[in-house]
Amino acid sequence: MRALGPLALALATGLAAAGPPNILLILADDLGYGDLGSYGHPSSSTPNLDQLAAGGLRFTDFYVPVSLCTPSRAALLTGRLPVRTGMYPGVLEPMSKGGLPLEEVTLAEVLAARGYLTGMAGKWHLGVGPAGSFLPPHQGFHRFLGIPYSHDQGPCQNLTCFPPATRCAGLCDQGLVPVPLLANLSVQAQPPWLPGLEARYVAFARDLMTDAKQQGRPFFLYYASHHTHYPQFGGQSFAGHSGRGPFGDALMELDAAVGALMVAVEDLGLLRDTLVIFTADNGPETMRMTHGGCSGLLRCGKGTTYEGGVREPAVAFWHGHITPGVTHELASSLDVLPTLVALTGAPLPNTTLDGLNLSPLLLGTGKSPRKSMAFYSPYPDEVRGVFAVRSGKYKAHFFTQGSAHSDTTADAMCHASSMLTAHEPPLLFDLSVDPGENYDLLGGGTKVSEEVLQALKKLQLLKAQLDSAVTFGPSQIGQGQDPTLEICCRVGCRPRPDCCLCPELHT
Ligand code: MG
Repeated sequence: MRALGPLALALATGLAAAGPPNILLILADDLGYGDLGSYGHPSSSTPNLDQLAAGGLRFTDFYVPVSLCTPSRAALLTGRLPVRTGMYPGVLEPMSKGGLPLEEVTLAEVLAARGYLTGMAGKWHLGVGPAGSFLPPHQGFHRFLGIPYSHDQGPCQNLTCFPPATRCAGLCDQGLVPVPLLANLSVQAQPPWLPGLEARYVAFARDLMTDAKQQGRPFFLYYASHHTHYPQFGGQSFAGHSGRGPFGDALMELDAAVGALMVAVEDLGLLRDTLVIFTADNGPETMRMTHGGCSGLLRCGKGTTYEGGVREPAVAFWHGHITPGVTHELASSLDVLPTLVALTGAPLPNTTLDGLNLSPLLLGTGKSPRKSMAFYSPYPDEVRGVFAVRSGKYKAHFFTQGSAHSDTTADAMCHASSMLTAHEPPLLFDLSVDPGENYDLLGGGTKVSEEVLQALKKLQLLKAQLDSAVTFGPSQIGQGQDPTLEICCRVGCRPRPDCCLCPELHT
């Protein structure tokens, strides 16, 4: 990754003359590998994402290191394994004391240092902390409009889904404040009116792009939609319109937002100057049944280290720079920061990075430098270390554990009832012929080839190397909770959390 410096690469690709590109990073939530039309779903309505995929580089083997919201988002924004940054175990709660440590260097911070106007719309989920000290304005984002965590981390009965016939199902997290919508550090509504939220984020995005252009500087927009995380919602033009139920409606609204963002880019004449990356934080939450996503032909979903949890849809689009096509090269959300550093000439953080520079793959000048990928449990510990490793076409599971997030599928191995299990020898799959991880190569019945034995040795060595090299940072999520840290629109009111209610008027 460090062999070719940013300046050398910029000169080699002719980017120096054009100036660094705008960056539009779009992140979906709990979206499965099989949910988009371009990834084979038969009834999803995703024309804009499919068009982005057709005009860009579509990845078939793009991974996140942990299949849960908080750790996956930390990996995307820092290029570092979540165990290093303390983003474990599980996810941050509204009253968590911890958050993404401020000494971690985020993508927004490196791009701001390069002169970018940086903004974020949507779901943060990397901590609130005392006086909002972990929120995006303190992590490199000049502007922020969003909900600081998942929109089910508060009572759903206070949310308004659209239309009334498709009110938010379930109760979500009771006993907490209603979810707040923040503009930078101030509460705009608590809770916001969900059917109007996506349009609000798109307007924020358009303003950011426009202002950046007027200021003569590039923009970095991190657009982290709440779609398609449970509970599903959609604006008037989407609810009931997709043909795939509430999940499809939410996905349809996300897709339309992507279309609107691309129109905004084009209207500003920035199409050739804007790199768009789309992916998702983790696989589908199948416990929601038809209200959750679909991992397609992959095994299990959110919360597990099986393919359905960690392999995500991903597209890189850059008109005139990235040749449209499909790549089967290995890539990861960890690679986004080093890749953007290389493409923009931004300063490389002075820290241990786990991501690699994919710019040769994007620009068609080389292959992916990534040859292996490690997967951690959302509840990791240093004794067990890495749960699964992929190298080339082979993947070994040294530990497996089901997750409630992946309940209800036909495969009991995915469910919460499937306890933490050590595998010696590991479960071993050849993903080139068995992407669904159905046939353990060491499971007996067939003679084990020399190639497979060599692959096994290599994977065992990789795990041993990783476990000895990766130091866990102090857990930020394990620092405990303090109810007074919950954001409240009415400072000092009683009784909390019920008094923290400032809903907005809407038509
Ligand atoms: Mg998620």
